[in-house]
Amino acid sequence: MLEQTRRLQGDVLVIGTGAAGCRAAIEASEYGASVILVCKGVFGKSGTTNLAGVVYDAAVGHADPADSPATQFEDTVVYGRFLGNQDLVRVFTFEAIKTVYDLDRYGMEWWKTEDGRFRQLTSPGLRRPRGLYNDEETGKKLQQALVREVLRPTRRNIEIVEDLFISDLVTVDGRVTGAVGIDIKSGDLVVLEARHVILATGGLGMMFGITDMEAGSTGEGISMAFRAGADLIDMEMHQFFPTAFVYPESLRGIAVHSSALWVLGLKLYNAQGERFMEQYFPEEKENVPRDILSRRIFLEIAEGRGTEHGGVWLDTRDIPNFDAIRKERPRTYLWKERFLKTERFEVAPTYHYTLGGIRIDVWGRTTVPGLYAAGECASGVHGANRIAGNALPDCMAFGMVAGRHAALHPGPRLPVRNDSVDRVRSRVLALLEGDGPPAQEVTRHLRGIMYRDVGIVRSGESLQRARAAIRALRHEAQRMHTPAAPSPTFGLLRAVETEAMAELAEVIVESAVLRTESRGAHYRTDYPEADNARWLRNVVARRTPDGVALDTIPVAFPYLRPEETTLDVRSARL
Ligand SMILES: Cc1cc2nc3c(=O)[nH]c(=O)nc-3n(C[C@H](O)[C@H](O)[C@H](O)COP(=O)(O)OP(=O)(O)OC[C@H]3O[C@@H](n4cnc5c(N)ncnc54)[C@H](O)[C@@H]3O)c2cc1C
Repeated sequence: MLEQTRRLQGDVLVIGTGAAGCRAAIEASEYGASVILVCKGVFGKSGTTNLAGVVYDAAVGHADPADSPATQFEDTVVYGRFLGNQDLVRVFTFEAIKTVYDLDRYGMEWWKTEDGRFRQLTSPGLRRPRGLYNDEETGKKLQQALVREVLRPTRRNIEIVEDLFISDLVTVDGRVTGAVGIDIKSGDLVVLEARHVILATGGLGMMFGITDMEAGSTGEGISMAFRAGADLIDMEMHQFFPTAFVYPESLRGIAVHSSALWVLGLKLYNAQGERFMEQYFPEEKENVPRDILSRRIFLEIAEGRGTEHGGVWLDTRDIPNFDAIRKERPRTYLWKERFLKTERFEVAPTYHYTLGGIRIDVWGRTTVPGLYAAGECASGVHGANRIAGNALPDCMAFGMVAGRHAALHPGPRLPVRNDSVDRVRSRVLALLEGDGPPAQEVTRHLRGIMYRDVGIVRSGESLQRARAAIRALRHEAQRMHTPAAPSPTFGLLRAVETEAMAELAEVIVESAVLRTESRGAHYRTDYPEADNARWLRNVVARRTPDGVALDTIPVAFPYLRPEETTLDVRSARL
């Protein structure tokens, strides 16, 4: 195990094959670069993109000609509570339109009207119907279209490497020159050399006890960038979806999704049978923004009025206008009709989207030369909250610009030296020698701390508790044991993931401690209000020999100042 068996070379190494990674690879290849495209699972199946439900927001204006990139820009900035990077949002809103037509060309099966125009749905947070879709399978269809395009027979300059777990980036004199990975099947080390590396590794939902993200969403991309010296930004920001099954166990974390159903009138009850949202929002009841609903559900459970399996009841038996979704989303209708109309479920908020991440500029460049990031592992577009349907076009837009920039600016191709590979080998081998608790147990513990004390509702007290627990856990992680079953590689990879997650947990906690206000997804009971005078700032985290160093930078408002908008964030519904 951990013998070096392969050395691969290309102009651009793309790590991740979801929406962002595939789009980056296609663009770089079209601009003439040779591309190595890697994922830690099966190509086309790994990652969260396949799970994406319905909407893809782009202001093509087919459902409402009054929509425009400028309207999408304002919606996105206001919903993100003015924390987003407005230059990035501008790129996103314009390029999103181009990505729709690219996808059309790749054979994406958008739902269209009889005269060939895109059908577009409205969602909470949007002033115009903007979400293109394919029933509830938009993510799956999009991933399929991208896979087909990557594999197009005339495209010969993309080499796909599946089942390769990248554990480390390699730098020479501060420039990223490649990466080292572990072959998931054989346990051997693989060395990859490239002029540029694009991280498209998705989010870190698996760090939290309940999540609807794919099981591989363990955040190594963010962790690798941090270890290579890149800035992380707004790592305190994490979005939760209010209602996911907590029981039965097999469905735990899976969101009860369709926003349409919320608008139609689902109801929530605590264990005592009270429709608790009525007490806090007599007018709106359950129809409040996602972050507010998530908080109320979390508090209802934390204050002891939860159900047997730690949720609240979601009652679907009395939806007054259920047939209204039949025309727009027949598949939703069929599925929902089968059991939603007759049942109630135990639900709790689920971790849904990583808002913070690797700091990038308008070309997807990180703060480390040679290293780019795109998609959910990168941060800056959504600020403190994300509108439903804005994630996939963000992946596509920044995958595209990063791929193009990397291809057009060929850097030096420096060989990955053997001593760099040896360092990775020693670090990973050390993880095999522990006699402490198994890696999976350490991870379970970490996920509990993060969900309970660093999740939807935080306070100085809960964060201090988490800080102490994570320090102890990092200590524990140094001697964790990697079980040989079901295979030695399996245990080893869980240990590498756990080590990375434990380090990121510290960054998240410290960033949340620093932000002494509440804004969007970051809610602190000891600072319940937004503080625009002090906190229209991004939190930047860097790695130092002593741990994490934090700084804050003021948000720039080149296009829209907070006092200039007439939009009210509270009006942005689910
Ligand atoms: C249930 C659900 C529904 C959603 N619905 C919508 C929606 O309707 N509209 C919308 O816009 N957004 C939606 N989202 C969000 C959206 O799906 C994601 O933000 C997006 O798919 C992320 O894509 P990505 O390319 O950044 O990463 P992913 O698709 O997660 O891909 C990550 C890739 O990185 C690879 N990888 C990770 N780590 C490593 C490593 N160490 N070594 C090698 N490879 C690695 C993985 O194998 C994978 O290929 C939804 C999310 C969820 C969870």
